[in-house]
Amino acid sequence: MIPTATATIAAMTDGPHALLIDGERRPSSDGRTFTTHSPATGQPIGEVSRATTQDVDAAVTAARAALDGSWSRTSPQKRARMLGRLALLLEADADRLAELETRNSGKPRWQALAEIRQAVADLDFYAGAAQHLYGRSFVVSPAVLSYTLREPVGVCAAIVPWNYPLMMATWKLAPALAAGCTIVLKPASATPLTALELGRLALEAGIPPGVVNVLPGPGSEVGEALVAHPGIDKVAFTGETQTGRRIATVAAAGLKRVSLELGGKSPNIVFEDADMDAAVLGSLWAIYYAAGQSCEARSRILVHEAVYERFAEAFVTKAAALRVGDPLAEDTQVGALISRTQAERVMGFVNGAVAEGAELLTGGAVDGQIGDGLDAAAFVRPTVIGGVRNEMRIAQEEVFGPVVTLTRFADEQEAVKIANDVRFGLAATVWTGDTARGHRVAGRIRAGTVGINQPYAAFPGVPFGGFKESGYGRELSIDALDLYTEIKAVLVGTGAKPQNPFGA
Ligand code: NAD
Repeated sequence: MIPTATATIAAMTDGPHALLIDGERRPSSDGRTFTTHSPATGQPIGEVSRATTQDVDAAVTAARAALDGSWSRTSPQKRARMLGRLALLLEADADRLAELETRNSGKPRWQALAEIRQAVADLDFYAGAAQHLYGRSFVVSPAVLSYTLREPVGVCAAIVPWNYPLMMATWKLAPALAAGCTIVLKPASATPLTALELGRLALEAGIPPGVVNVLPGPGSEVGEALVAHPGIDKVAFTGETQTGRRIATVAAAGLKRVSLELGGKSPNIVFEDADMDAAVLGSLWAIYYAAGQSCEARSRILVHEAVYERFAEAFVTKAAALRVGDPLAEDTQVGALISRTQAERVMGFVNGAVAEGAELLTGGAVDGQIGDGLDAAAFVRPTVIGGVRNEMRIAQEEVFGPVVTLTRFADEQEAVKIANDVRFGLAATVWTGDTARGHRVAGRIRAGTVGINQPYAAFPGVPFGGFKESGYGRELSIDALDLYTEIKAVLVGTGAKPQNPFGA
């Protein structure tokens, strides 16, 4: 039986959760901690050590020593086996970790479990990829042979957000370790618990001390100190576009390698020839999964004017029927947002849209009770806003909540124009019965991922990342390994006679 949100699991939450530095669980250098909460109940669920800049220094030093000590020269087969072992340990612990993730993030437990399974698949993918880090050879001339080596880029700072805490951490840890890099992982302050567990499991998997270090703490202090630290070679960041901009600026001083996975405002285009049932069901998932707190949430539904009313009616009916409530309850479809503050921010967007002339078709804040022991102010109902014009604020800015807008278009050209008329470019979905149109539109949309007649956006093995202000760099794929390696060219003299360009 799955416990309810008001139940406690003492063993899981008691005692301060220590930092992980050089294979040791340590308190922070100044002994400070911070409290982490369950967003769904508003109750504290644990004390976590709050890293300092001194801890940043210690973690980077440990990561450097581990890199130079042996990790960067460990055979790919050995690294692959350790990543594979970590995958197995994560899988064996998935139920417990999913519950911890749910308590700390407010997302439904079955979603947390699905994300942990994806993390397992990601580790497996990179365990394989570690053994395919090939270079190229090229015969420059009869006297010169060249070949290239893929060497680890070095010590990586992995800075992750609160919406997919463990999964996003794995998206960075797995390719980094596969490439022979070491990392210092900084989870978001709201959700530090599963990242610390991942670090602990990495040690259990036999990954040497110092290869994975985990430092919870505030982004503006710990995150920024990491980015600025001269011992960091590469920064892999997922989070808000504004934070990404700041990170790129700070990292530029040290000319560090940077990859940025940032915000989105992704379109979901429903053509008049689409299978309406599939479009309605897929579009629901594409926005309300994780209560809309997804970078790739398809938060703008663009519908052909001929089917707008039909689609809107069916979509609103289904959205209103989604079960909102206790994230630990088995039948919950939409859980809590990450905090009351986030729920207030989301409602600010909704009210702003109505003030701009759009129509609230369903959803909004939760009035009154939502369940025993739950904080109703941290929940927002699946919300649909109709009659939205693309220039409205609600259609241009990332809401990061269970809110979707409906906008009409007249033809394919206009659909593409509206789809591209935002500063972001992370994902898009196209619903159409015309195969040629699906591919044609996919080719014209400025986004890193385009789905045709299916709503999913992220799979291990498939590159994931943004165009425009959604960032640069890719994750989840073989392409991501390029971001964790440097290419070295080796030139070998193969001539029979000495080279003597001076004719000396
Ligand atoms: P955020 O930018 O506030 O924080 C992300 C991480 O950066 C946290 O660990 C935070 O502590 C840290 N941070 C904050 N300021 C920093 C600084 N100055 N220097 C270094 N680190 C700093 O983002 P969030 O609110 O945690 O997450 C939500 C955002 O993440 C949304 O915009 C969402 O679209 C984006 N996101 C993008 C993707 C993607 O793959 N493109 C995936 C998930 C989330």
